[in-house]
Amino acid sequence: MNKLFGLIGHPVSHSMSPLMHNDAFKQLGINGYYHAFDVQEGKLEEAVAAFKVLNMSGFNVTIPHKVAIMEFLDEIDEEAKMIGAVNTVVNSNGRLIGFNTDGRGFLSSLLEIVPKPLIESNVLVLGAGGAARAVVTAVADHGVKTLAITNRTLKKATEIKNNYYNYKKSKNAQIDIVSLQEAEANIGVYDIIINTTSLGMSPNIEEIPISIDHIKPNVVLSDLIYNPLKTKWLQLGEENGAIIHNGVGMFAMQGALAFEKWTGITPDTARMTKIVMNQLGGKSC
Ligand code: NAP
Repeated sequence: MNKLFGLIGHPVSHSMSPLMHNDAFKQLGINGYYHAFDVQEGKLEEAVAAFKVLNMSGFNVTIPHKVAIMEFLDEIDEEAKMIGAVNTVVNSNGRLIGFNTDGRGFLSSLLEIVPKPLIESNVLVLGAGGAARAVVTAVADHGVKTLAITNRTLKKATEIKNNYYNYKKSKNAQIDIVSLQEAEANIGVYDIIINTTSLGMSPNIEEIPISIDHIKPNVVLSDLIYNPLKTKWLQLGEENGAIIHNGVGMFAMQGALAFEKWTGITPDTARMTKIVMNQLGGKSC
């Protein structure tokens, strides 16, 4: 019998996850099928109950349900608790267990392109929303030379820092909170700058999250956005000699990690990335 997998979100009509996962099932000869379910806010509890009744083997969770889903699950793993959001659910003998693969997905994609070890790098994270929580957790857990967060609303950056420290007794990284002005004035200090804000995302493609006129040579600019594939910020960075990295790798890797949790099998991540790229009609960077 086919095992059923899916995505819960709203809207989901443009999701690339079904294509990516169904291709992996086919490639690996697994009897699995993945479908995107459009579930409106307010209908989440019913949808989760229906998934249980249908004995779905697992599912992904996307906007706007990543936080709200947590109260309807039987168990949440420590990393997802620390991030404060779930993007992957595994059905383990009828118990729904929540995970978050966004942070690790981002980290493995970033590690493919960094020119020097992260542990020797000064890292700046722009933004303090849901994606930032996952990115900061993964990067801090990995270990870096220094880690700073800046955001329009600084209080949210401080919340991420406090949340991380509350969960982690051994601090792998010290997290500094800096104002946007400070970050911009010291931009030449950073080896890796990660944009987790939505600034620059289609249709507002002219926006940039921070000025990068004075970046150091060979800095890595990583933008979680993949629509457009090359944001204006990445374009400007490339013109200034930066190594640029978009959000496609993160998207494919978080999907691959979810697939692994559901099936115990590591899919072909390069193929997954290629499928997403083809769907978006461009080349990865
Ligand atoms: P979110 O929770 O809504 O956070 C949005 C962030 O952007 C906050 O830091 C917010 O600042 C900032 N922001 C929004 N508008 C702004 C403005 N006009 N000026 C300054 N700052 C602004 O969203 P999210 O879920 O973290 O997603 C953020 C981005 O990551 C999106 O572009 C999303 O597509 C992308 N993403 C990509 C992947 C992937 O797989 N590649 C996965 C997840 C997310 P305030 O706190 O001050 O409001």
